[in-house]
Amino acid sequence: MRMTRQRRIILDELRKTKDHPTADMLYQSVRRHLPRISLGTVYRNLEILAEAGMIRKLEFGGASRMRFDATVSRHSHIRCVACGRIDDFPLDPDLNPEEYTAGINGYEVLGYNLEFYGRCPACKAKVK
Ligand SMILES: [Zn+2]
Ligand SMILES: [Zn+2]
Repeated sequence: MRMTRQRRIILDELRKTKDHPTADMLYQSVRRHLPRISLGTVYRNLEILAEAGMIRKLEFGGASRMRFDATVSRHSHIRCVACGRIDDFPLDPDLNPEEYTAGINGYEVLGYNLEFYGRCPACKAKVK
């Protein structure tokens, strides 16, 4: 993959945030640097960056839109069911589900998707 200026800026903007933004959200901040860029171009470049393994694409069960993450190392997420906010969710680094599940049902386990959901601190404060 060729690292074009556009891609570099999109990657930098994604790395600046911990929000796991949608392409739309990212488009708003990328546009401050590249006023003529289109949402489609941002989306296409995100797909290319994800394919190259430089970012992660997150598909959440209850969320309608694809989210993007600049942290590619293994980590799980928690999604707020009230506002849709997504945060990183720390897991015991010694936990190794591939090893734990080895041989169950005769499967060779290649990976897993562990998704948590709940209410974020701000939404929790609203419901009293
Ligand atoms: Zn919330
Ligand atoms: Zn994350």
